Amino acid sequence: MSERTIAAIATPLGEGSIGVIRISGDDALKVADKVFRSFSGENLCEKLGYTAAYGEIIDGDRIIDDGVALVFRSPKSYTGEDVVEISIHGGRLMLKSALRVILQNGAFMAEPGEFTKRAFLNGKLDLTKAESVMGLISANSEAELRLSRAAHIGKVSEKIDGIEADLVSADASIAAYSDYPDEDIEGLNYDNFLKMLQNAKTQIEKMLSTYDAGRILREGIETVIVGKPNVGKSTLMNMLSGAERSIVTEVAGTTRDIIEDTVTVGDITLRLADTAGIHETQDTVESIGVNRAIDRIDKAELVLAVFDSTMPLDSDDLKLLETVKGKNTIVVVNKTDLESNIDMTAFYGMRVVTISAKNNTGYEELSKEIAEISGTNSLNPDTVVLISERQRACTERALDGVNEAINALQSGQTMDAVGVCVDDALAALFELTGKRVTNEVTDEIFRKFCVGK
Ligand code: GDP
Repeated sequence: MSERTIAAIATPLGEGSIGVIRISGDDALKVADKVFRSFSGENLCEKLGYTAAYGEIIDGDRIIDDGVALVFRSPKSYTGEDVVEISIHGGRLMLKSALRVILQNGAFMAEPGEFTKRAFLNGKLDLTKAESVMGLISANSEAELRLSRAAHIGKVSEKIDGIEADLVSADASIAAYSDYPDEDIEGLNYDNFLKMLQNAKTQIEKMLSTYDAGRILREGIETVIVGKPNVGKSTLMNMLSGAERSIVTEVAGTTRDIIEDTVTVGDITLRLADTAGIHETQDTVESIGVNRAIDRIDKAELVLAVFDSTMPLDSDDLKLLETVKGKNTIVVVNKTDLESNIDMTAFYGMRVVTISAKNNTGYEELSKEIAEISGTNSLNPDTVVLISERQRACTERALDGVNEAINALQSGQTMDAVGVCVDDALAALFELTGKRVTNEVTDEIFRKFCVGK
C-alpha cells in the first residue's frame, strides 16, 4: 500500500457528457466522503466494494455538480487499493473544480501513469500488461487494438512464464548435474540439456520475430512513392488516401515537393511522401525535389516505384529501377486501363502489382503485397506480439543468454558456466515481465503515460 492517496481526472478534458475523477489509496473513501454527499445519507466509508451512490460533489456549502460515486475495495480495484471513481458532467471547468476540491481535502495529484504503476506494484498486472494499456488507448487500427488487447489479457505474460519455467527447470537440472556429476540420474545428461536450451531458443526467437511486424501495425511504415513525372504517383496517392491530396496535372514535373500524408491500407498505416519525379532535370526547383526523393528512398522502409505501362521503359525508368533494387520495393505498374507498351521482364525477381490508379483497380493486390512485404500478413494480432522496444531489448538479451549457454555447453565449458548464461537469460525475462526490475526501469515506463492513467 502506498502512503499517499492520489487523485486525477481519468477522462479527456473537453466537453463530454460524463467525466470521471479517480481517487486511489488508503484514504480514498475518507477523502471522497469529505467532498461527496450521497442523497441516501450513507457514507462511502460504510459501503461495500462494487457499489455506487448517487449524490453531489460539494465544496463546503457550494454544490459543484451531482453525480455518481463508485466504490472499489482493496484489493479488488484497478490499483489494488481502495478506489473511488466519481462521475460528473464532463466539462473542462467542472472536472477541474471537482478535482481541486478533492486535492484540498487530502488527496495528492497523481503523477503520470501512477494509477497503473500502483496496479503493477500491487501485483494487479505485470509490465507487459501495463504497457498494453497505452496501446489500448492510443490504437489507430483494428490490428493494433487486437494486439494490445492480447497483451492486456496476458498472452505475452503467459508465453514468457512458459519459457521462464523451461529455463528454470534447465537451470535446476544443470545445477544438480554440477553437484552430482557421477550420479546417473535420468534426464541429467548433455543431450537433454541441449534439447531444453534449444527449445527455449526457438520459442524466444519466435517471440522476437513478432516485433517488427507488430511495430509496423502500431506505428505504420515510412513509405515513399517514386517514379518519373506523369506516371501517376499523385493519382496513386489519391487512390490510397481516397482524397484529392496531391496536385495532379498533365504537365510533366509539377509535383515538385514532398507532401506528407498518412493512409491506412488494410491493417497498415503508410506514412506517405509523394515526391518529385525521379529524373534528370535542369530545373532547379525540381532538382531539389528529386534529390530529396532519392534521399527518401534511402530512409524509407517501403518504396512504391511507379511505372507507366503505356510506354516502354526509358533510361530514367531503368535508373530508378537500379536505385530501388535491394530496397523493400513494390513495383507498381500503372495505367493498365490503357494499351500496354511496357516490357514486364525488366521487373523479373521483384514484387510487381499492376493497377489503374485512375480507375481505382488493383488496390486489393497492392494491399496484399504491402502486408506481405511488411510481414504483417503472417502475424496473428490475437496472440503473442512484443509491443515495445523495451520488450524487444529484454527478449534479445534473453536470446543472447540462451545462445551463450548453448555455446558454453557445446564447447565443453563447465556446467557452472552454462548455468551462469541461463541465469542471464532468466534475468532478462524477469525484467521483461517486471518480476525483477529496478525502480529506474519502472519509472521510465510509467513516465510515458499521461496523468490519470
Ligand atoms: P505524377 O506526375 O506521377 O504524379 O502523375 P499524375 O498522378 O499527376 O498523373 C499524370 C497523368 O496521368 C494525369 O493526367 C492522370 O490523370 C493520368 N493517370 C494517372 N493514373 C492513370 C491511370 O491509371 N490510367 C490513366 N488512363 N491515366 C492515369
